[in-house]
Amino acid sequence: MISDNHTETTNKETDRPTVSLLIPFYNEEKLIDNTIQTVLPIMDSLELSYEIVCVDDGSQDRSWELLSKLAEDYPQIYALRLSRNFGKEAALSAGLAEVRGDAVITMDGDLQHDPKHIPQMIELWRDGYDVVEGVKSARNDAWLSRLAANAFYKLFKYASGYNLKNASDFKLLDRKVVDAWNRLPEKETFYRALSAWLGFRRTSFEFDVQERKSGKSKWSVLKLFRLSGNALTGFSSKPLQIINVVGWVFILFFLILAIQTLINYFQGQAVEGFTTVILLQLLIGGGIFLGMGVMGTYIDRIFIEVKRRPRYLISERKGRDEND
Ligand code: UDP
Ligand code: MG
Repeated sequence: MISDNHTETTNKETDRPTVSLLIPFYNEEKLIDNTIQTVLPIMDSLELSYEIVCVDDGSQDRSWELLSKLAEDYPQIYALRLSRNFGKEAALSAGLAEVRGDAVITMDGDLQHDPKHIPQMIELWRDGYDVVEGVKSARNDAWLSRLAANAFYKLFKYASGYNLKNASDFKLLDRKVVDAWNRLPEKETFYRALSAWLGFRRTSFEFDVQERKSGKSKWSVLKLFRLSGNALTGFSSKPLQIINVVGWVFILFFLILAIQTLINYFQGQAVEGFTTVILLQLLIGGGIFLGMGVMGTYIDRIFIEVKRRPRYLISERKGRDEND
């Protein structure tokens, strides 16, 4: 692949900005203005052409009102509204399909991803890196969520081989990585891991996760559980292989018991063993259901993928020419 010239400041002929900043928002009316006002001077100080692409992920509050107002007030802001809440993954996909920059920086809307690192990210991009990843230096989450996150990352690394520990969605992607992302056919994405799967020249930088400026985290335990389940089954077929292994262990176990039972029978002492029967029933029953559950999860994924529904639907756009 031909290497892009990362040092170009503007792309006048194509009228494409050099850098796109992509921020998803879901019910963030309290912090949209603050976030944009914090980010604008930083982007201006870079002295390059840029755009800010804000995706409203089907908010029920005044988020869209605020975003469309911003898109009217600032020529460099482009707002995109999804037809309903599709989740952050879909919101990122929607944004990545629409950004026009030679590089895109994805960032949370609550300023937990400190925008002061943006100049450093662009510096690394200009050094020739295609993917610049933010790594959380210290997780200041509650101990329980830290424990859950670490357990998930351990499991994920075992299952898929990718180490996502302390990885974040605060990233810079070069245009060719964005194009590669947009060509991924799957409907259920996991940005953090898929961008690692894509490869390209990668580097990382550390950042401290900031406190959320206002409002609450939009992730419910259930949503997180779904995301981690999707991530695991999307990146690994190990759970299916485990069913196989468990099956073999069972068969071995049955063989031993069968021999013992037959010996007992021929010796005329076959009445006992009621407890064994009950325990075996429970164990087999549990094992079969668990195995079916795991297979069901994969079938569910196949089901979602074969329907070929789009990852998101866009209902409104503000701030770009009609003919785009
Ligand atoms: N977000 C979104 N759709 C969702 C949930 C969250 O676009 O369904 C956005 C949210 O507005 C924020 C970013 O994703 O800009 C990160 O969300 P949040 O701060 O709730 O997650 P956390 O920081 O707890 O991981
Ligand atoms: Mg947050």
